[in-house]
Amino acid sequence: MDLPKLAVASLGGTVSMQVKTVGAGVIPTVSGETLLASIPELKTLAQVSVETLGLLPSASLNFESLLSVLSWANLQIQYGAVGVVITQGTDTLEETATLLDYLWDHDAPLVLTGAMRSAAQAGADGPANLLDACRVALAPDSRRRGVQVVMNGQIHAAHAVRKTDSMALQAFSSPVVGPVGHLLEDSVRYLRPPTQRNILPVPQQTTHAIALLEASLSADSLLLENILKLGYDGLVIAGFGAGHVCASWTEAIEAIAQKIPVVIATRCGSGSTARSTYGFKGSEMDLVRRGASMAGFICPRKARILLWLLVGCQKQDDLGRYLHNL
Ligand code: ASP
Repeated sequence: MDLPKLAVASLGGTVSMQVKTVGAGVIPTVSGETLLASIPELKTLAQVSVETLGLLPSASLNFESLLSVLSWANLQIQYGAVGVVITQGTDTLEETATLLDYLWDHDAPLVLTGAMRSAAQAGADGPANLLDACRVALAPDSRRRGVQVVMNGQIHAAHAVRKTDSMALQAFSSPVVGPVGHLLEDSVRYLRPPTQRNILPVPQQTTHAIALLEASLSADSLLLENILKLGYDGLVIAGFGAGHVCASWTEAIEAIAQKIPVVIATRCGSGSTARSTYGFKGSEMDLVRRGASMAGFICPRKARILLWLLVGCQKQDDLGRYLHNL
């Protein structure tokens, strides 16, 4: 019997890192082929094709390069792959997963994974994560779930996952909803059925920029007041608590919201913005009156990606349809 086709690509990150010069720290040097050589059992599960699309720390990935990765992944599905796996750094994994999920228009799964420990460290988690990711990409139950992140034996939906620990092996979680599934004794077990997805067109332009500012105690408003002058096309504010800012920011936000979309998310790391609870100056009710939109459960970083995509395909007027979801 023919084994299913699986396409794997590597972009860099800790999973691809090794020591080149003793004492100089690990850097991305390991190719996709070498990564696959660490999981020989995959050969019994699939016909695997592999490409090294990049060797970057994930902080240096950008939207344009991810759109090229998306085109590559689309082609793999066209050529008959039942699923696609991409390895990358974990620092921006939640953002790349979100971007790709909004654009992934296939029933076949796209699975992202990485590692918290490089191959140079004892207990490196890269091979286990990669094998798990491949199992998820091959599983029939993974269809119609869009982009998922597989790390440390857990499967997370792209829209919910966040890196919530900087160095721990258990670095990823999905606040409020939890992981969507697990890997147990080599099998893929989902806890919930697939949900409705919001797919956006690929942006026609990529040169626009969305600013992200975080509210903080006793902050000045210098950056905020210069957002329009600096030429930004949208603004996301990581607000206090349920989506609040200080009173002294409100007039600037109102002026900005007349020109470009403004989204207020919560900086809390978990939970939603409110809609109709607080009425003080700078509260969610006040900010909505001034023309801002509340992000709901969408975290500030993901709200910025959503807004970038919507502006890029001239759909910013539909913003309200995409917010509040988890
Ligand atoms: N610490 C990161 C990682 O886990 C580095 C990166 O994101 O490239 O891969």
